[in-house]
Amino acid sequence: MWTSPFIPWKQLNFDMAVFPILQYPHPLLKSRSERVQVIDDRVARIIKNLLDTLVASPGVALAAPQIGEPCRIIVCDVSRKVKKRHHGRIILINPLLHRREGKIIFREGCLSVPDYTGNVSRAEKVWVKGLSPQGQPVSLLSEGFEALALQHEMDHLDGMLFLDRIASVSTDLFRRKVY
Ligand SMILES: [Zn+2]
Repeated sequence: MWTSPFIPWKQLNFDMAVFPILQYPHPLLKSRSERVQVIDDRVARIIKNLLDTLVASPGVALAAPQIGEPCRIIVCDVSRKVKKRHHGRIILINPLLHRREGKIIFREGCLSVPDYTGNVSRAEKVWVKGLSPQGQPVSLLSEGFEALALQHEMDHLDGMLFLDRIASVSTDLFRRKVY
């Protein structure tokens, strides 16, 4: 998800692995990512690359295929954008949405679709399961803006963009004016 062009420079350092974020219509953004079978050094490296790239971006969440790694890993930290109702930094391997509740329509953006935003209908509350970077089972209940970000990122793992979820191109898609 894309929010504001604010980059917290204090979090930047020279050991960071900041990757280019793939842009629509790159074919990797349209493909289904593979489940992670073994949590090894490669997975640890992808997680670090995702976290570093996210910190250096204006976004709040990122999925592995967006940096060219077609595997099911997402990172999310909405604390930059909202102050309440969030878990801080979330790292999930093989995330699964196993329950959803409520419905909200929200204007979304995406680091991979920088020129547009769109109205998307999503669940207001979600129960998500997955694995931590250490391979421990994680289960969390998320609501509000964080729940939207998690749903958006899980879509990336299935090759779905917010563009695929807007009801009408003529009324629900908007050109972004401010970066
Ligand atoms: Zn996105």
